Amino acid sequence: MEYEMVIGMEIHVELGTKTKIFCSCPTEFGQDENTHTCPVCLGMPGVLPVLNEKVVEYATRAGLALNCEIAHFSKMDRKNYFYPDLPKAYQTSQFDLPICTGGVVEIEVDGMKKDIGITRIHIEEDAGKLLHESAEGTLVDVNRCGVPLVEIVTEPDMRSAEEARVFAEKVRNILEYTGVSDCKMQEGSMRFDVNLSMREKGATVLGTRTEMKNLNSFRALVRAVQYESKRQIIELKKGHKIIQETRKWDDTKGVSSSLRSKEEAQDYRYFPEPDLVPIVIEKEYIEKIKSELPELPEAKKQRYIDEYKLPEYDAGVLTASGVTARFFEEAVSLYDEAKQISNWIMVEIPPLLKEKELTMENIPIKPAQLAELLKLVKDGVINGTSGKEVLKEMFNSGKNPDEIVKEQGLSQVSDTGELEAIIEKIVADNPKSLEDIGAGNEKAYGFLTGQVMKATKGKANPQVANKIIRDVVAKHLG
Ligand SMILES: [Zn+2]
Repeated sequence: MEYEMVIGMEIHVELGTKTKIFCSCPTEFGQDENTHTCPVCLGMPGVLPVLNEKVVEYATRAGLALNCEIAHFSKMDRKNYFYPDLPKAYQTSQFDLPICTGGVVEIEVDGMKKDIGITRIHIEEDAGKLLHESAEGTLVDVNRCGVPLVEIVTEPDMRSAEEARVFAEKVRNILEYTGVSDCKMQEGSMRFDVNLSMREKGATVLGTRTEMKNLNSFRALVRAVQYESKRQIIELKKGHKIIQETRKWDDTKGVSSSLRSKEEAQDYRYFPEPDLVPIVIEKEYIEKIKSELPELPEAKKQRYIDEYKLPEYDAGVLTASGVTARFFEEAVSLYDEAKQISNWIMVEIPPLLKEKELTMENIPIKPAQLAELLKLVKDGVINGTSGKEVLKEMFNSGKNPDEIVKEQGLSQVSDTGELEAIIEKIVADNPKSLEDIGAGNEKAYGFLTGQVMKATKGKANPQVANKIIRDVVAKHLG
């Protein structure tokens, strides 16, 4: 029997507001444990939460960027459950009336375009964190309690690990562009839950699904999907039923294990939050947020193709992250050779970043420095090979390209007198090449150019050198 994978996703995204969702505690990551708390985010009896207006703004912006409808009227609800990292014993979330519904994101896998439906986006508060690594046992840090989140819930529209990855990357990219979150997965700002079931190919009814929670990298997402789909197929082939449950993915071991049986909505005993007024959003407000949306990845990609005449591939790579796009745009504003800049960003920079375990987010060179380097190459001050060396040194020392060129004496030898002397000697030392050229073998020119490069340690200006070689050879052959 042939099986088909069905995947839906829930994506939790921490919003980049300065303060928490219902109190004025700061949201900063990486502070001392339990220092950013107050009676409100600890859920002490008798406190009154106040909704942070920025949360509504950011959720609206995210919803519009993901092509959702924004609700005129929505409300907050209590989702009851007990976790040691949630002192309130309920999470303030949204149940039946979320702030956004009915969005869509187009993805492309293997040249095929496909729409992935967004069922809803709701706003809620994050829980704290359990720290298991302490010698004293498990400790709890509640700094994260009350950090605002949006939860993006998709339709079960994905059919492969690749589709899931492309979708997840695209959502991250769009949200990063809108500025509602830093989307840093390593800091938990963006986490993926994957609902996965298998069914006979062609069937219309969905199989029983399992949920894998808190996947925090694209790699973990892909591996978890591959593992879980295989596990379910094995179970089904044995004639076993899939148990609806929450599973924990262990990325180090590459396996998933059962965590708990999956709760249904009724298990949470949702009820309207009595301490918060409903959220009413006027049409004008939505229009205003819409008009302020920045250029999103798709539009930017098209503009790069139209305005900078870049190939679609380049435009796709450069716009795949907001950080890279900004770097490119700044460089191109200073040096008007889009394709050359694109090549260096796509080909020369990534291996240097990798070597230093950096990303475009903390790249040690500035767009202006890259522009300056490429000008030196274009003007013939240095050749392309030296340019790559200079870039490497820029990564190491942070110095400007012209400084490095001076220090290392990398300027090209374009001085015709100096080159003529070198070439005369090379031609005299290689009578065989002269003979070959005389016999019509043009390849011997390549050999001579190679010798010139060797003699000048790669610094000869190739155009100037080639012209002199031809002149000198012509003179000898008379
Ligand atoms: Zn607080």
